[in-house]
Amino acid sequence: MTAADAYAELVRRSKELGVLNSCAAVLGWDQQTYMPAKGAGLRGEQMAFLAALSHQKFTDPKIGELLAAVEGSDAVANPEADAAANVREWRRAYDRATKLPEALVAELARVTTQAQQAWEQAKKANQFATFRPLLERVVELKRQEADAVGFKEHRYNALIEEYEPGTTVADLKALFAGLTKQLVPLIQKFADLPKKPDRSVLEREYAVDRQRLFAESAAVAIGYDFAAGRLDTTSHPFCSGFGPGDCRITTRYNPRSFSDAFFGVLHETGHAVYEQNLPAEHFGTPLGVACSFGVHESQSRLWENQVGRGRPFWDHFFPRLRQAFPAAVGDVSPDTFYAAINDVRPSLIRVEADEATYNLHIALRFELELALLSGDLAVVDLPDAWNTRFTALFGLTVPDDTRGCLQDIHWAFGGIGYFPTYTLGNLYAAQFMAAAKTQLGAESLEGDIRRGEFGRLKEWLVKNIHRHGQRFRAAELCRRVTGSSLVPEPFVAHLNEKYTALQAVC
Ligand code: ZN
Repeated sequence: MTAADAYAELVRRSKELGVLNSCAAVLGWDQQTYMPAKGAGLRGEQMAFLAALSHQKFTDPKIGELLAAVEGSDAVANPEADAAANVREWRRAYDRATKLPEALVAELARVTTQAQQAWEQAKKANQFATFRPLLERVVELKRQEADAVGFKEHRYNALIEEYEPGTTVADLKALFAGLTKQLVPLIQKFADLPKKPDRSVLEREYAVDRQRLFAESAAVAIGYDFAAGRLDTTSHPFCSGFGPGDCRITTRYNPRSFSDAFFGVLHETGHAVYEQNLPAEHFGTPLGVACSFGVHESQSRLWENQVGRGRPFWDHFFPRLRQAFPAAVGDVSPDTFYAAINDVRPSLIRVEADEATYNLHIALRFELELALLSGDLAVVDLPDAWNTRFTALFGLTVPDDTRGCLQDIHWAFGGIGYFPTYTLGNLYAAQFMAAAKTQLGAESLEGDIRRGEFGRLKEWLVKNIHRHGQRFRAAELCRRVTGSSLVPEPFVAHLNEKYTALQAVC
């Protein structure tokens, strides 16, 4: 078999897997939106069946033979050719999938299912002790996973690889150290503003059907194609891209909160616009898949925070908001509203945090994950370590584990290494936005946004980020798009601008 034939066969198999995995994604979406409660048993079997089939097809030794036939051949000689990127990412995923012993995969699935149930109970009852033995098992199994996959320097490197290929503990430590050093005094400056933003204007009566229409109009404006998507209701908002022509988002509505659903929809729309603009011809292969978790998150944060909490955006949308909700915001000034949606205030819960303090929540988790994995921190000591570090970073006392180390589900499902991608997303978003302003002209881009025109920004993102799929690793993509590797400065500059704007109205 020639290298070209081997490559063609790999593409065929990869596209077949793309179709198979998209079937599971449809079932997963249905499970979280419309599936009746009694369908859970069958759905579990359907999902397990598809997952096993997909794993079996992907770990077929034939894939290893095909990869070996292509690697080192002319087909991948040019590192920027389609084939080179696909082969590089197939190899990474294939090695990972085949190095993990089946018994370990099965045990991880079993323990994390139990751990998630135990976590839910423990969180409800504020009882870390009942979750502890399962978390100990999860940490132990993740260590075994790292050992099976192999790593340099730190076990954690093997785990990040699943979410942010190419990023290392050393990169993240440097990034978080630089960021935290600048964030802590900056957050204090926000706290010292003479007048606290009045958040209560966001907690008035906002009729749910009008919230939906308003959020949909914003999603359409920034480029979400409803002919290739939907917006449904769920308890945990998400975006699910099945493939070309079908990428769906969900949200949840609270009639006494404007921000939850609206900024949630902007966020998921950012993810969805990325998915909708991946190159359809590469569907099922790495070139048709988003670059990394961090870059995916950058697209949601860019629309939610960089654009959606900015003054120009609300110059356009605030008059429309008043039309939609005259009773709630008829007496609210644009300044008051702007201050309310940009309030920075240390708080206990990550998912409710503002865009500045949010990253301290992640810095804390990153630090603790490293210590858990290396053995420097025993699971039994986690609540104390959490509370002590939390007070040092936020100046707040953690009242209970429910609002402390039990607040997130990630560790229960084995997602150690996942959290840092949220902050990477925030930083990438700021650095991409700064590059877009430089390349498109800051003033003219602002003018666009003020008129409710988002097409040029969206097209810039498509051209520079979306259409590449996994052609480049995140760090390389960042250098190509912005001329620099990822640094905290653009994000800190964005927050400083925000502080200056708030100073004028607070
Ligand atoms: Zn997200």
